[in-house]
Amino acid sequence: MTTRRATMNDTWEETLRALEEKGLRRHLKTVDAGGLPRIRLNDTTYLNLASNNYLGFTHHPRLIAAAARALETYGAGAGASQLICGRAEVHADLEEALCKFKGVEAALVFSSGYAANVGVLTSLVGPRDQIFADKLNHASLIDGARLSRGEVHRYCHRDPDHLARLLHEHPGQGQRFIVSDGVFSMDGDIAPLPDLVALAEQHDAVLVLDDAHGTGVVGPGGKGTAAHFGLEDRVPVQIGTFSKALGAQGGFVAGSRTLIDFLVNRARSFIFSTGLAPASAAASKEALRVLEEEPDLLERLQSHLRRLREALLDRGYTLTGSPPAPMIAVIMGDPGDTLDLSAHLLDRGILAPAVRPPSVPEGTSRIRLAPMGTHVPEEIERVVEAFPMRRRPPACP
Ligand code: PMP
Repeated sequence: MTTRRATMNDTWEETLRALEEKGLRRHLKTVDAGGLPRIRLNDTTYLNLASNNYLGFTHHPRLIAAAARALETYGAGAGASQLICGRAEVHADLEEALCKFKGVEAALVFSSGYAANVGVLTSLVGPRDQIFADKLNHASLIDGARLSRGEVHRYCHRDPDHLARLLHEHPGQGQRFIVSDGVFSMDGDIAPLPDLVALAEQHDAVLVLDDAHGTGVVGPGGKGTAAHFGLEDRVPVQIGTFSKALGAQGGFVAGSRTLIDFLVNRARSFIFSTGLAPASAAASKEALRVLEEEPDLLERLQSHLRRLREALLDRGYTLTGSPPAPMIAVIMGDPGDTLDLSAHLLDRGILAPAVRPPSVPEGTSRIRLAPMGTHVPEEIERVVEAFPMRRRPPACP
């Protein structure tokens, strides 16, 4: 037994060493609070460009107060899965608020966005069905697709022509699903939703949109990618999270009453997992209200993104993505160069992660910059100044 354990440890060590050599080994960092615009790490304060807390909601006093009240009322946890006895009024209230926010008939709250994605795909898709998925979809959609046992076809990133070809080539017997992120968080670009909707309707496929990063920041009032394109009524399965711009925790699905009833009966990650902590549900519900009542944070975030984009292009960097996505990817290519730039930024007080394979495809390592609505313009200028010039700017005429 001891020998076997020692051998396994050797194998794991070997893998870790290989990752280290390729610049791909990951390490955990402990900070004071990951959602703050300025965070402390090893006794130093850094500007935080690494979080998904785009609007700074994790520390919004109204969210904290709502969560604190819910803690007093409901306790620290839900106590059971929702179908057993882990559903409280706060969950039902949150779902009602979501229905209004997304303009849908019904919604269901999961314990995380990951659980929502896996739950949706494993319950809606069966072995005779087919999934047509963007190649850069989030890992939780990929895992859900694998677990569903449906046949998976991956189309080139944001390429409706390739998707159309695949749909023609694979008519299939069962139901077909088109699955895409709304905002691709490692690239900062947005799904070509009008094309996806048209193809889904033309080919009688069900469109599933994971709008984890669009929720709260994209579209009028942060209502998401479907609202950004005015296509709310034509995306039958909309997934989102409370864990990014909305500053709390948990995932959700929004759609028809029948879809939600089906998920309650079939989505294993909902049925066999403890209900979302009531304090998180209360904070999320408050976040939806704050979003509506305090639009200035969203405006400030968009202004920071515009400034960063313009200044980094001027400094000679290659960026991917487009507004109003809440992040910018500075493409470096080589993982070592990316780690060096991230370390250079850290030396200048900026925390901006090096994103490397397997989170992104080989050869596309990058710095991901996610400013927050709670940063001030001077801080954004500090970020810009910390990036070394990559080439001389064009001479003045
Ligand atoms: N979808 C996407 C596109 C994501 O980026 C993430 C989290 N990084 C998730 C789903 C999972 O959401 P959660 O963190 O709430 O589990």
